[in-house]
Amino acid sequence: MPKLIHYRERCIGCNACVEIDYDHWRMSRKDGKAVLIGGIEKKGVFQLDVRPEDIETCKQVVKACPVRVIKLEGK
Ligand code: SF4
Repeated sequence: MPKLIHYRERCIGCNACVEIDYDHWRMSRKDGKAVLIGGIEKKGVFQLDVRPEDIETCKQVVKACPVRVIKLEGK
């Protein structure tokens, strides 16, 4: 199963991921960083299994993140 990985600490809150993929991303009002919806946290890094049909959108998000803190594994 492909996974989205979010290195959240280094997120600068630009909102690009939310604009492209509102199914998986929201902005936090608390700290102004993106939240990977349903992501499981391990040492500050969030992971989420994504459906194969969502991969193309996830790839766009990975490309759009200006600080490269989103990765897609196992595509
Ligand atoms: S695109 Fe990257 S930097 Fe911008 S809000 Fe999303 S995770 Fe943060």
